[in-house]
Amino acid sequence: MQSYKPVFSVDLRAIQANFTVVRSLLSPAVAVSAVVKSDAYGLGLERVVGPLWEAGCRSFFVASMEEAIRLRRRLARADIAILEGLRNGSLEAYRERRLTPVCSTPAEVAAATLAAIPYVLNLETGFGRLGLRFDELRSLLHTNPRVPELVMSHLACADDTGNSRNRLQKDRFVGMCALLAPSTPRSLAASAGVFLGADYHFDRVRTGSALYGLNNTGLEPSPFKPVVRLSARLIDIRHVQRGEAVGYMGTFLADRPTVLGIVAIGYRHGLAWQVANRLSAEFAGRSVPVIGRVSMEYCAIDLTDIPARLARIGAFVDFISATAPPENLARAAATVAQEILIRTGGACARRYRFAPSGQHP
Ligand SMILES: *Cc1c(COP(=O)(O)O)cnc(C)c1O
Repeated sequence: MQSYKPVFSVDLRAIQANFTVVRSLLSPAVAVSAVVKSDAYGLGLERVVGPLWEAGCRSFFVASMEEAIRLRRRLARADIAILEGLRNGSLEAYRERRLTPVCSTPAEVAAATLAAIPYVLNLETGFGRLGLRFDELRSLLHTNPRVPELVMSHLACADDTGNSRNRLQKDRFVGMCALLAPSTPRSLAASAGVFLGADYHFDRVRTGSALYGLNNTGLEPSPFKPVVRLSARLIDIRHVQRGEAVGYMGTFLADRPTVLGIVAIGYRHGLAWQVANRLSAEFAGRSVPVIGRVSMEYCAIDLTDIPARLARIGAFVDFISATAPPENLARAAATVAQEILIRTGGACARRYRFAPSGQHP
């Protein structure tokens, strides 16, 4: 039986190339960690970490203990930091598998200290999410805690180069780090922070989006290679007359005799309902509007301007490609490109191109 599941294909060499691009933007003294949380942003944690290791990446951030265990099975020697901190799993699990919690509360630091578990210290500098505030850090230091392996914080507005909050967060970070041993390595920037300048790089940057080909730099063309292609099959071709409606609630009315392509991708595959009448897909190298509402399993495209000999049942229609970045889909769906990757990557049939064959230590 033929599968008509949409295909989410991942170019593993492009991920390696993007790791190298990030490296090239930093001084050699600055280390790069790969953030592979949320199943590597929907691309598949197990499949991307080997190629990243081959490209020279030795340090990884995951969301949870569950992801850390999966990663440890793949890479026995990698450094693995867990963003959820010490909240899950026995202390033994961290020690045995050599996993590093990112501690965001004084209680977690106290637990790591007592159990002699190396940890990363997370500081709150203006994101308003997790991490120790200045007063918490100051009180903590009176308790003689274990020295962290790394101290980090996270920028809220790095995508916006001119945003004054970036400076504010950096200055707070420097101020808080001054309370710690000067030799403690520091990390502030994620992908977008790389482009804020060398004084945001500190000792380590933590990149996710950039590795997966997203461009949150504002630079055109993107310095990063496209990684993901999302394509779905044309399963029917129909003709509608002028004045006929297409799809739920008839939100598209044909203003000319229209050739309609029915495509096997819907919102259950992560193609957001909101993109109705707001997105163009690509077919045979041309742009084709998505018309009418996206339904659960299907959507419709306008093939009127495509030569009839090209419009064949079973042909692929692209929703993400080298020329149609995930950012287009994100704009049409009023969300961010990361959410597009996670939703479509998690729901479609994942394929991998250029899979390296080697075993990883
Ligand atoms: C997700 C995350 C990153 C990676 O962010 P990108 O913008 O995708 O590079 C880095 N640090 C922390 C704490 C994160 O949560």
